Amino acid sequence: MVRRRDGRRPGADGRHPAGRRRPARRRRRRAGAAPGDPGELADVLGLSYRALSGDPVDLAVVGSGPAGLAAAVYGASEGLRTVLLDAVGTGGQAAASSRIENYLGFPSGLSGVELTQRAALQALKFGAQLSSPCEVVELDTGGTQLRLVLRDGTEVLARSVVLATGARYRGLPLDRWADFEGAGIYYAATELEARACSHAPLTVVGGANSAGQAALFLASRGAPVTLAVRGPDLTAGMSAYLVDRVLAHPRITVATGTQVTALGGGDSLESVTLTPGTAAPPASRRASGSSASSARSRPPTGWAGWPSTGTASC
Ligand SMILES: Cc1cc2nc3c(=O)[nH]c(=O)nc-3n(C[C@H](O)[C@H](O)[C@H](O)COP(=O)(O)OP(=O)(O)OC[C@H]3O[C@@H](n4cnc5c(N)ncnc54)[C@H](O)[C@@H]3O)c2cc1C
Repeated sequence: MVRRRDGRRPGADGRHPAGRRRPARRRRRRAGAAPGDPGELADVLGLSYRALSGDPVDLAVVGSGPAGLAAAVYGASEGLRTVLLDAVGTGGQAAASSRIENYLGFPSGLSGVELTQRAALQALKFGAQLSSPCEVVELDTGGTQLRLVLRDGTEVLARSVVLATGARYRGLPLDRWADFEGAGIYYAATELEARACSHAPLTVVGGANSAGQAALFLASRGAPVTLAVRGPDLTAGMSAYLVDRVLAHPRITVATGTQVTALGGGDSLESVTLTPGTAAPPASRRASGSSASSARSRPPTGWAGWPSTGTASC
């Protein structure tokens, strides 16, 4: 059983383990919140941020992917008053992973949701306050303490801040890319995307581990998959264990030195054009319900005064 530092059970006095009062059953609508807004639901469930007192917290962590969750676990376990804020929900990108096999301590692998739920539980156990959805839009470093401002105007005062905001996907610079996002173009390959794509031919774009995992997962669900990789071979960006499995899979075709150069369809994506190298004529493939992972991402830290121009392969 989890006990607080004063020896009492969390919640025994009607307080949240982090010291916060239990949420009232009914709350007033948040400033600017529309009916049905996820923030409003979070508010009713007591998930949105509420200051416990006027004092600054010891540690505010922005982003609750694996990095933010780890920071919260270690901060709270060292006795720091810790809040963890996420714009969307707990888990970050990792929560979209169907199976993570290279995380220390889990030799058989586990789903991203399972991994991040365990971490969230661990952070709560040590008394961290987890809040979402609450997007941080400003970091003020000019005062005696750090001041974070949330999208709804709420301020969070902190003695220290960890930015664990991960990466934001950048789409490919193709006509109609934005139209097909969520209608054939997806940035993850979980059960939901697999159901949406059914047994249609799929194109997975990218040459690193996420693309390899997505290709294997979708192929295991019966879909013929083309893995389109810009580079000359898979080994530059993909772990060896995944390369072996991808190459051996009978339903996966690996197209190296290949780029997506056009998209086609009506309300949803129906075809992608794959162009090998730069000289060869494009080969158009029908790909109804095609899945495409963006190959580039950048840190979403512009609001904190740090440039968000870095790129990373995924
Ligand atoms: C489908 C998929 C499969 C993957 N599989 C593997 C794998 O098997 N092995 C592996 O090692 N890696 C894998 N990865 C990569 C791994 O998930 C990432 O490297 C990891 O999640 C990065 O963790 P992070 O905490 O740095 O950032 P993220 O997981 O990106 O989390 C960042 C969080 O910050 C929040 N945030 C951003 N800006 C703000 C803001 N202004 N205010 C509040 N919150 C904000 C976001 O909402 C997000 O929740 C996979 C990724 C994907 C998408």
